[in-house]
Amino acid sequence: MYNPESKIATEFISDEEIRSTISYARENSNNKELVEKILEKAAEFKGITHREAALLLECDEPEIVERIYTLANEIKHRFYGNRIVMFAPLYLSNYCVNGCVYCPYHAKNRNIRRKKLTQDEIKAEVIALQNMGHKRLALEAGEHPLLNPIEYILESINTIYGIKHRNGAIRRVNVNIAATTVENYRKLRDAGIGTYILFQETYNKENYLALHPTGPKSNYEWHTEAMDRAMQGGIDDVGIGVLFGLETYRYDLIGLLMHAEHLEATYGVGPHTISVPRLCKADDVDTADFENAVPDEIFYRIVAVIRIAVPYTGMIISTRESVKSRERLLELGVSQMSGGSCTSVGGYVKEEQPEENSAQFDIADHRSLDEVVEWLLDLDHIPSFCTACYREGRTGDRFMTLLKSGQISNCCLPNALITLKEYLKDYASPSTRAKGEAMIKRLLEDIPNEHARRKATEYIGRIESGERDFRF
Ligand code: SAM
Repeated sequence: MYNPESKIATEFISDEEIRSTISYARENSNNKELVEKILEKAAEFKGITHREAALLLECDEPEIVERIYTLANEIKHRFYGNRIVMFAPLYLSNYCVNGCVYCPYHAKNRNIRRKKLTQDEIKAEVIALQNMGHKRLALEAGEHPLLNPIEYILESINTIYGIKHRNGAIRRVNVNIAATTVENYRKLRDAGIGTYILFQETYNKENYLALHPTGPKSNYEWHTEAMDRAMQGGIDDVGIGVLFGLETYRYDLIGLLMHAEHLEATYGVGPHTISVPRLCKADDVDTADFENAVPDEIFYRIVAVIRIAVPYTGMIISTRESVKSRERLLELGVSQMSGGSCTSVGGYVKEEQPEENSAQFDIADHRSLDEVVEWLLDLDHIPSFCTACYREGRTGDRFMTLLKSGQISNCCLPNALITLKEYLKDYASPSTRAKGEAMIKRLLEDIPNEHARRKATEYIGRIESGERDFRF
């Protein structure tokens, strides 16, 4: 039944295989020899299977857990260095026809204020985001065929790419909208999106059907096979994820890794990113009603095991996580983070009053982008505003091949420093600027290739003199 190369949801995400993997992991978690073999394989930095990952996740022995954390950290550094790519979500509309029981946008919720941004309002939001220093956005919208049709999304993307305010520009728009048709994915590709992101929420079909009782999203197969249609539509960078807290974490971690294996087996390239959101409190959503909440220590282990299982896939942490948890996760393999985020429609321009709530969920990290950037610098991570790869055509398997070869470090580090320099010049507070300038000076020396080092130094000088938008 289980077939990673099948394009049928229940065959590449096989319930039987997941349940048998959970039993296998439980039965073998004390098998030191087997665990040792998996850790040795993981140390080759080429990934491990969902079965092997499930077994590592099951190990409670502190020494093994520590080794898992250390390996995750090493893998992160090997492929991503200490760079963290920054982004922000932009909520276009919270009109939604679905009935997702964990999301306040569900059609029956009368408490929240429904809002859809006009193109002028989008412009104002984007200028506010550009003025913070953002270059990369994730577009978010509820599913509503009449109010949020694909034409609205496409027009909004076009508007966003067209706004150049002072030195600001959004250079990469990722899109997180409901599962759609191959034809619509092709239109999104043609509009120049970066990654198409869609969270599975849960891979457990029975639970999925209970959590999505009404609306187009209630079709498990349509939702689970969305990335196959996106790939067919020519989108090579797709981002997957589950909403941890809906289902047991064991089931969904295995499902998530099977989905990655399916994409790799079928299209020769795994997911570009994996997101690991945890369920948050929201209007009409009480997390106490969900029995699968994931405790912090287990969550950290999940992130580390994902890092080990799919070393080449970017990992995204949002402001759903607290500062404390984000700080820990930085060391366990995360490569992208949002900062200064707002989850309400129109919230970057106008702070909402409690009675006009349109937010999707309560965020935990309320710091400004500048505070997040300064915090990253203090922790010796490079905040990167880079968008170069997809603008240079390094997407899908071309990106993965470069990453696997290690060559990408000759463009990623310079690109990170160049875009950090732009941020420091145009948006940073004095203390962030001083710390960032010191980091750039120090790390320019670390660019391995001499030509790249010279070029990066030249670009940084030209940014100082007022030019913008260089890239490798
Ligand atoms: N409507 C689209 C869809 O159905 O995929 C896309 C976007 S929705 C705005 C983005 C994601 O927010 C959802 O996929 C879900 O995982 C997450 N989400 C919904 N309710 C949440 C909650 N209460 N806490 C945390 N994340 C939530």
